[in-house]
Amino acid sequence: MKNTDTFSVYDLHGGATYSTINTVYESRLLMWSAFVFQGGDELSKLRYNLVSFSGGKDSTAMLLGMIERKMPIDCILFSDTGLEFPDMYDHINKVAERENITITRIKYKFSFEYLLIDHRMKCRNCNKIKQGFSWPGIRTRWCTSRLKNLPRERFLRPLREKYEVYEYVGIAADELYRLDRKTNQNPYHIHPLIEWGMTESDCLKYCYECGYDWNGLYEHFHRVSCWCCPLQSIAELRKLYKHYPELWQKLKEWDSRTWREFRFDYNVQQLEQRFIYENERLSNGLSITGRDFYREMRSRINGGITNEKNS
Ligand code: SF4
Repeated sequence: MKNTDTFSVYDLHGGATYSTINTVYESRLLMWSAFVFQGGDELSKLRYNLVSFSGGKDSTAMLLGMIERKMPIDCILFSDTGLEFPDMYDHINKVAERENITITRIKYKFSFEYLLIDHRMKCRNCNKIKQGFSWPGIRTRWCTSRLKNLPRERFLRPLREKYEVYEYVGIAADELYRLDRKTNQNPYHIHPLIEWGMTESDCLKYCYECGYDWNGLYEHFHRVSCWCCPLQSIAELRKLYKHYPELWQKLKEWDSRTWREFRFDYNVQQLEQRFIYENERLSNGLSITGRDFYREMRSRINGGITNEKNS
C-alpha cells in the first residue's frame, strides 16, 4: 500500500501542511494493521497505531524497539516546529532511510520567525495592533499550541472519526512523574518504554548501539528541544553559545527585532556578555559563581539583572 494514498485523503487546509520523509513508499513496516473490535453485535472502529516521533532519544528508542519487535505501525508522525537543531533533522532523515520507513511530517503554515516578529494582531486588552507574538514565556507558550498542537489535532481529527487511534508515546521508565500530567492520562496513549523498563539512559545507549549518534548532540544536551527556547536553563543556553555559534547569531538577530525580553533576567546580548566574561574568568582560573562574579558581571552588562536562580 502506498502511504501517499493513505494520507492524501486528509485535508489539512487552514493551518498545516504535511510531507513524508523517505521516498520509499512500499514500506514493509507501514502496514494497515488495523484489526476489528467487536462491541456487542456491532462492528466498531478499526484500530490505528500511530507513533509520536520527535527524533529525540526516547522516541527513537521506542520506534526502533517497535520495529525490532515487529509491532504494527500505521503512521510515524513528526510535528515539525522548524526549530530543531540541524543535527536532529539529519537524524530524522537518517532513521527514515536506514529503517526504510516513511515518517509523516506535519508543519504549521507559518514559521516561528514570522509569528515571533511579523505576525500582526490586535491586543485583547488595549485594542492596539501588536507586531509579532514575541518570545514565549511560561504562561504564553503560543508556539506549543500553534506549531505543535494545532497541526497535530488537525491531522488526527479525521483519523479519529474513522479509527480508534492509539498513540505510542516515548515516556521513559524513569519519567513516571510525567504520567501525572493530564495530557498523559489519555486512555488511547500507550507507553512501550515503561512496559519494557527502559530508562532515558537505556534509550540513549540503545540508539547508540543501533548506530544513531545525532552527530554528538546528546554529548552537549541531556534533553533536546527547540534550540531557541527562552525557557531553557542558562546552562543550556551557554552550550548553545559555545557549540552552535550560527544558531546563536540567529537568536541575537531575532531578539533585536522583537519587543518582549528574551528572559525576565537577560536579553540575548546580555547573555552573550555574561558568557564572554565567564570565559575570561575561567581562563584566569577564577570561579564563575559567587558574589564577586555576579557583582562584576552585573556592572559589565550594565544592570537590569535581578535573579540568578538558573545559573
Ligand atoms: S520548547 Fe520552547 S520554543 Fe519550543 S514549542 Fe516549547 S515553549 Fe515553544
